[in-house]
Amino acid sequence: MAQLHNASPVYFELSFSEPQAHYIDVRMTIPGVKKESVELTMPVWAPGSYLIREFSKNVEAFEAFGSAGQSLKTTKTAKNKWQVIAGGEENITVTYRVYAFEVSVRTSFVDASHAFISPTGVFMFVDDMIDRPSEVKVIPFAGWKKVSTGLELVSGKTDAYYAENFDILFDSPIEIGNQDVFTFDAAGVHHEVAMVGGGNYDKMRLQKDMAKIVEGATQIFDENPNKRYVFIVHHYANGGGGLEHLNSTVLGASRFAYETENGYKGFLGLVAHEYFHLWNIKRLRPAALGPFDYSAENYTTNLWIGEGFTAYYDNLLVHRAGFSSQEQYFQDILGDIQAVENRAGNHVQPLGEASFDAWIKYYRQDENSVNTGVSYYNKGALMALLIDLKLLHENNGAIGLDEVMHAAYREFYKREGRGYNDEEFKTLAEKVGGISLDDIYDLVNTASSPDYNSYLAYAGLELIDLNEGKVTADLGIRTKIVDGEIIVSSVSRASTAWDGGINVNDELIAINGYRLDVAGRELARVTAAASVGDEWKVLLSRDGIVQELNIKMKPSTAKAFQLVEKDQLNPKQLLVRNRWLRQF
Ligand SMILES: [Zn+2]
Repeated sequence: MAQLHNASPVYFELSFSEPQAHYIDVRMTIPGVKKESVELTMPVWAPGSYLIREFSKNVEAFEAFGSAGQSLKTTKTAKNKWQVIAGGEENITVTYRVYAFEVSVRTSFVDASHAFISPTGVFMFVDDMIDRPSEVKVIPFAGWKKVSTGLELVSGKTDAYYAENFDILFDSPIEIGNQDVFTFDAAGVHHEVAMVGGGNYDKMRLQKDMAKIVEGATQIFDENPNKRYVFIVHHYANGGGGLEHLNSTVLGASRFAYETENGYKGFLGLVAHEYFHLWNIKRLRPAALGPFDYSAENYTTNLWIGEGFTAYYDNLLVHRAGFSSQEQYFQDILGDIQAVENRAGNHVQPLGEASFDAWIKYYRQDENSVNTGVSYYNKGALMALLIDLKLLHENNGAIGLDEVMHAAYREFYKREGRGYNDEEFKTLAEKVGGISLDDIYDLVNTASSPDYNSYLAYAGLELIDLNEGKVTADLGIRTKIVDGEIIVSSVSRASTAWDGGINVNDELIAINGYRLDVAGRELARVTAAASVGDEWKVLLSRDGIVQELNIKMKPSTAKAFQLVEKDQLNPKQLLVRNRWLRQF
């Protein structure tokens, strides 16, 4: 859309007068106000991370000034809104401070060594100015020499960055400090990698291997929409996770993860995941995910596509790029099946609902989550696998999920310039693949498990359960040791402990008169010797009151899956397998 009127940028200045105390000083100047009052809003969430985080809780010392520097009256009108009585002023300036001390890929953090700006928790906006451009001037603290961000530099200025609208600004994190920066070019895109917090990575190896992941992901979509892309990598003693953005990403990694082949492969998997998102969810997206409502939940039933398909492709890209063997890749699939099928919540919460309720369930896990919910990441990845295999089978290896993603990106993002709804994605995938996906959507809309083998057989694979036919008594709890006590941390739905009334937070003391030890030896011994139907006396302490429960042992429902490769593949299975697992 053409700019209609008054497109002069909103100016932000970020400085750090007390980085050691974790503060960001923000100065925001809004030109062309000319109104009696203006309302400023701080977002409540960071897109990509589906939880209301109430970023305004970190704001203090909010003040407003007119063009001549005179104070203007301000009033808070909501938890994340400030009204400024502008009195018809042309320009107003507001200043505020943001406390930034939460370590994660979607929250800001400042200390004496660096600043990480997660934009939705730092920048405010004016409702009817969300399409306005903005400029961010960064004034680094003494000794900080580098700025890494997907935002473009304003030509002719130092450390001043430009965003064409607030959606771009909110999608562009900024790292300021002395990060170790290396670059590589791949798929026609210049990539910058800003390594923060040390680590034993090998730059030369990463340049080569990350480029391969980038090339592989780009091949699927046949186009890379960016000219420049920035990886901001935060290293911690123990860390993980990532957050996707339009032309950048923030990754969390364990400082020494690069030491082992598994750790290294895990890092490349995270790179692949967040990079794949630049198409799937940042551009090809459910209708609810852009333009965003920054002040409330944005509901979609399609995170199993946005996140699940991305999770499917992260392992697949790592395999196709040659960083994991076929056997390792099959283990990745098996891991997802084990996790989903051994979770009681898989039969309670449908996948579409898991997506819709991410705000109150996936991002707010509690002791009962294993019994009530399923992850749209790993179950979504399994749906992608089933769709891929079915497509490849029905099309003799010529059309798979790659082609569906390619077509959906073109149709919804490039041609229509909008997000898709539930029905539209399905219809498009069915059209591209010439098949019905009713079977898959039935699985998404009900809390049920697929008949894996009817799909895996297309690629000459078979899933077997080593526990099938075995009857093993099982208590159905998890425990943790707290202050030398054995504390129940979760109870599986419909298990022995569930039926028998053992509660989360109970301290287990003895079973059948024998004291339990924190090493778990006695519990393991008595469990191994138990038969279904045995009666146990469990002595426990609940909130300081000792009691004995009589429980009756029930059989374990745990599955021990294995993925078996058929010795001989028929020609069609070979076509499917070769196309599915083709190397870049
Ligand atoms: Zn993701």
